[in-house]
Amino acid sequence: MQSCFEGGKDNAAIPFWNSKREQHRIRHLAHDAGSMKAESLTGRLVTRKRLVSDGAWGTMLQARGLRPGECPELWCLTRRADVMDVARAYVAAGADMIKTNSFGANRFKLAFYGLSDRAGELSEAAAAISREAAGDRIVLGSMGPTGLILMMGDVPEADIYAAFREQAAGLMHGGADVCLVETMSAADEAALAVRAAREATDLEVACTFTFQRTQTGEHRTMMGLSPADAARAAVEAGAHVVGANCGQGMAEMAEIVAEMRTAVPGHPILVHANAGLPHNVNGVDVFPETPEIMAARVREVLRAGAVIVGGCCGTTPDHVSAMAKVVRAFEG
Ligand SMILES: [Zn+2]
Repeated sequence: MQSCFEGGKDNAAIPFWNSKREQHRIRHLAHDAGSMKAESLTGRLVTRKRLVSDGAWGTMLQARGLRPGECPELWCLTRRADVMDVARAYVAAGADMIKTNSFGANRFKLAFYGLSDRAGELSEAAAAISREAAGDRIVLGSMGPTGLILMMGDVPEADIYAAFREQAAGLMHGGADVCLVETMSAADEAALAVRAAREATDLEVACTFTFQRTQTGEHRTMMGLSPADAARAAVEAGAHVVGANCGQGMAEMAEIVAEMRTAVPGHPILVHANAGLPHNVNGVDVFPETPEIMAARVREVLRAGAVIVGGCCGTTPDHVSAMAKVVRAFEG
């Protein structure tokens, strides 16, 4: 069983049941009486066992005209209707949870566009869009890497921690239910982000890493981290949910999930897989896996122990609805 909250020994599992969390929800309900605020993600996993997440955001925005070199997160203000369309499309496809267009909304990533002072504002705007589209579904507030991994040591850890705090607080104020730390490759950056999200908010925190297969056949992040070590680092930092995102496609995920499950038994495991490895065709990334191909690989990922399955780069609402059918039909 994936009941991380029944063990009693697991500190990370306690806070989402505490009264502070409930008070926040009640406050939010009172503030925004129009929307039925969801129960927690882990609470839903108790009643529903397995849930469907959404698909890609970046490639969906590119399809709506986002150009290379343009800041995706700024679209939360300048192209709000297009961002809302993506959120609504995933709700219509049957997702139980949707992400936010805030992957790079931290002050280090935004500095590239001269927008570093707007991290909190853009994170909040992103969460507010997904909150509005989600209704009573869960909103996963996306928090990607700072892009500073190779420079860690040059930039004080306290500054990186503060940047993640700022983003997490913005996501909470916009109405996110969960902080989703994603596409991580270094244990120290992931731990900083998870700790910042735990300490700046009373939201649940999920943390997913990106793996590639090495020449010797093992799954490792860009920084050489194994699935087991990645999962342990995330849980030690306070993550409620762990998992893998992006990467080389759904076919790789069952092994990764199995390794994580052994390392952190009792913690729910989430998978957001790419639609395979992209091929560059005339300057455009083409993702090889159709909804049918991806959906056909979901069963083995569920069997390996994942309880939340969705997509990353190259996936669309059609991928999500195809995967949703498999998740709903799964009995195990
Ligand atoms: Zn991706």
